[in-house]
Formats: sequence, structure tokens, C-alpha cells
Amino acid sequence: MDFVEQLKSSVDIVTVVGEYVRLRRSGPNRYMGLCPFHNEKSPSFTVHVVHQFYKCFSCGAGGDVVKFVMEKEGISFYEALKSLAERFGVPMPKRSQYADEDAKVRGGLLAMHELAQENFRANLSAQAGEAARAYIAKRGLSEETVEQFGLGYSDRSGRALLRLFEQDHFPVAQMEQSGLVKKRQDGSLYDSFRNRLMFPIHNESGKIIGFGGRALAADDEPKYLNSPETQIYKKSHVLYNLHRAKEPMRKEDRVILVEGYMDVIGVTAAGVRNVVASCGTALTDKQVQALKRHTQRIAVNFDPDVAGANAAERSLDLLLAESMHVRVVELDGGLDPDEYCKEHGPEAYADRVEHAKGYFYWLADRVRAKHDMRTPEGKVAVLEFLLPKVQRVNDPLERMTIANDVAGYLGVNQGMVLDRFRKAATERNEKTIERPKSTLRHDERMLLSALLTDAEWRAEIVEQMRALQTVEALPSRRIFQAIFALEDSGGRVGFDEVNARLEEADQNLFAQAVLAEDGEITREEVTAAIVSMRRSEDQYLRVQLKSRITESERAGKLEEAMRLTMELQGLERSVGRRGSH
Ligand SMILES: [Zn+2]
Repeated sequence: MDFVEQLKSSVDIVTVVGEYVRLRRSGPNRYMGLCPFHNEKSPSFTVHVVHQFYKCFSCGAGGDVVKFVMEKEGISFYEALKSLAERFGVPMPKRSQYADEDAKVRGGLLAMHELAQENFRANLSAQAGEAARAYIAKRGLSEETVEQFGLGYSDRSGRALLRLFEQDHFPVAQMEQSGLVKKRQDGSLYDSFRNRLMFPIHNESGKIIGFGGRALAADDEPKYLNSPETQIYKKSHVLYNLHRAKEPMRKEDRVILVEGYMDVIGVTAAGVRNVVASCGTALTDKQVQALKRHTQRIAVNFDPDVAGANAAERSLDLLLAESMHVRVVELDGGLDPDEYCKEHGPEAYADRVEHAKGYFYWLADRVRAKHDMRTPEGKVAVLEFLLPKVQRVNDPLERMTIANDVAGYLGVNQGMVLDRFRKAATERNEKTIERPKSTLRHDERMLLSALLTDAEWRAEIVEQMRALQTVEALPSRRIFQAIFALEDSGGRVGFDEVNARLEEADQNLFAQAVLAEDGEITREEVTAAIVSMRRSEDQYLRVQLKSRITESERAGKLEEAMRLTMELQGLERSVGRRGSH
């Protein structure tokens, strides 16, 4: 067994995929969830436990666990092997044939971030870190919390990281690529972060990929400075604290979205752990999709000022388009989440989240305040504002329910609202993704699964199937031929090996077949599938013979036609005999 095979056999694909996708068991050996490679509302992404592969029947993404990690983390084959090997305690071969250039660059960037983190952490407890410690004390963060979130301090020298990177002989180009070091006009280099409280930013698997730095001097601009986009830090994809929050998010089946690092830290420190922030950017659809894989229920808790409310309103369009169930948390006393937790405790905060208003009630209150609801014009104006938002809700039933509720809440005639909705709905272009239906017969699917399951069955099925001409006419013929070829070459006949020999269309058929025949296969089922295949062989031969007879008659070859007719009669007799047993 080569290393890749050995690694794959010690890794559980459901565990690995399950860190990105909320999987539900959908059969004895199958799990389903929302595809992490395209945007979808209902799950078409499937993972097979026994054959250890994933497949999305909407976007076509599919492969083994190594490919999943590569695609999900945007890393190379080698990096994916390494990351899986580390996690599952499988020793990597020493001189690895899998290393590549990109992997080295990204590995270098990650190592630089680790070095930076060590430096920032050390600075925080050194003399230079006094201002940062004072700020931390002012915000009331415990030592434990500072430790948990890895807070640090970038010193004033502007050369600390530069020196470290030079010592470790990182090339200048790579230093710049890291975003941690910048170049002046004259070509000299300096640290990007100076005299700032540092917040490490992690990717979903917990590696540091960037930093946020809060200014400590009053006149330092900007107040928050973020790492630039790099090869390892794609801002529009990253949410602050997601790697810590995803477990609690699933458990609570809800995520709380706040505005900044300090809110995340304050709320987590108070004991509410399902909280994330979009760092340094307005919320993006990629971020919402990352959340949606863990939960569809979100409570938005932005700052109580006008900017916060506007930001909330903007994010909401995006959240609704992704079919998230949105609530908006409002905290009294003009407090932000961090302050509220400190003043009222985590139970009170959790309670506010639990009883937060549904998005549309919140929005209705907001517009209602701007119009005179006693006049018909006022009511219409409010409706005109709300209805397009309601239409962003993807589920038609939910959309109608909300429209109805909002009408009731505003005291507007419900008939009128629904009427407008029906009109809008017909204009709305409902896109539904059609799932490809399996075009394989039950016996084909059964035999394909059986071929992967048991070597003894395989020998028997291959022998039987090879004798049958009907195989040529099966939609799955190329899959069977690939298996015959593998069996001949004496190679391993597993899902991946067969899959690797197929074109994309056949890969889809193959995955469908294996996923459809999901349960434990019994000897009886295999026998029944072989019998069924033989029956279709008879049928196939009959059709062939009949068409040859017709051809011969047309060509005037009557002797030939007679001979074929006898052959057909013989076939009918033997089928009849077999049938009567
Ligand atoms: Zn997909």
C-alpha cells in the first residue's frame, strides 16, 4: 500500500468533511449536507462512508478526502496529505515526493505568521507592552481570555518581525507576500504593524493567516488595521473566530454575528461561545455560506448606533438571499454586546438573543418610525419599502407567511399585501436545480456496488458479466469495462481506482450507483442481480436476432434468415425452460 492509500484508510472522511458541512445521515452508509463548493438551498452533497468519497450532484464536485481538503482549504496535494497525516497521526514518508512550489510558499507564509504571533505574545508581557496591557485591563479582559484569543502587541521599532524573518532567511519577496512587512519608496523594509494590540485571525482549520491591530496611541490612524489580502488570507472568505465558534454554533443551532474583535472576545469570555465577526469587511456571500454550513439561524447584533443599524440592514439582504433565518438583537441602554455582557451577565445576553425580534419586525419598526402610520399614504410607503425585502426570502411558503405577519403587524389589509405578492411571485424567476436521475437499472447498480465490496463476488461477477453481450448496451458499460481492466491488471479495485479511469459523465453515473445501493448487500441480492442481468441478455439476443432476420430477408438471403430463425427458436426454448424452473 502506498502512503496515500494508507493515509486514506486511516482517515474518516465523514469527520473531515463534517468540519465544514453539517452532515445528516441519509442512509446506512451515507450522509448529506449543503454543498460547500456551490451555493444551494437543499442538500445535494453526499458523502459515502464505506467507499470514502463525496459527490455533489448539482455542481459536480467530487473526490476523495485528500481532494476535499485541497479544494476546501485551497492548498496543494502535498499540503493536504501533510495536514491529514498530522491530524490523524500517520507518519509522513521522510523524503516526500509530493512537495511542490505553491505549498512551500504557503507553508512559508504560515510559518511567518507563527513567528509573528510568538513575537507579539512575548511583547505583550515585556516592558514595551505596557500600553497594550493597560488597554486590556481597561476592557476588563482576564489573563485566560487574552491567552485564549492569543492577543499580542506589535512594538514601536517597526523592525522586530523584519529581523526575525531575516534571521530565518525568508526571501524578501516572500516577506512582502506575507503582508506583515512593507516596502518603502527607497526599497527598505519595515513592519506593517507598529504599536498596536494584535488579534490573530485564523482560518476555519485554526491556522493563523492574518492579524488585526488596534491602535493604542490616540492619534494613530486607522483605529483598526488589518493584514492585506495574501495567498493565505482571503478576506471575503474569513470570519473572525469561526474555528472556535463552529462547534457551539452547531450545538446551539444558531450563530451570533457581531461587528468587531472586542465584541467576539467579550461575549465569548462571558460564556456565550457561538459568536463570530466579519473582520475588516462588510459581510460577503462567501462568509454567509461558510456560516450556513453550520447553522441557518443567525442573530445579528451590531452596534446600537446609526452606522451599526445601517450595516445590519445591508447584511440582511445577503442573509435572506441565502435563506438564513434572521433575528436582530437590540440591547437596551445603547450598549454594545461586550458591554451588555459585562453589565448584565451572559444569561441576560443569551436571553436577549433568544427573544430577539424576527428581521421583518425589526425592519418594520425602523420604517414605521419614519412614516405616519395613521394615514393610508404612510402605510403604503412602509409596505413599498418592506415588500421587496420580503421577496428576498427564498422559500415561497415562508415568504407568504412573513408577508401576512408583516401586514398584520402594520395593521394593513392582508388581502392587498397578498395580492401584490402573487403578482410579484409570477414575475419572480424561481430557479430550481434539477438533480440528475440515475439512469442505471437496479441490477446494474447492485452489481457495481457488489464489485467494490467483496473480492470473491467480484471474481464471480466479472466472469459472468464478461460472457454477456448485453453489457455492451448498458449505460454503465464503460464502468464495467474499467473494472474488468483493473481486475485483469491485478490492481486494487476500490472506488477511487475505478473512478480514476472514468470520464466525468461516467464518474457521475458511478457515484450515483454506489450511493443508491447504500445498505449492506447480501449474497441473495447479488445472485438476483446476476439472474436479472442474464434475463436482459436473453432479451438482448432476441432483439439482435430478430433484426438480423429482417435484414437477411430484405437482402433476399433466405437461407441465412432460416438459420437465424432456428437459432431464435432455440433461444426461446431455452429461455422457456429456464423460466419454468
Ligand atoms: Zn455542489
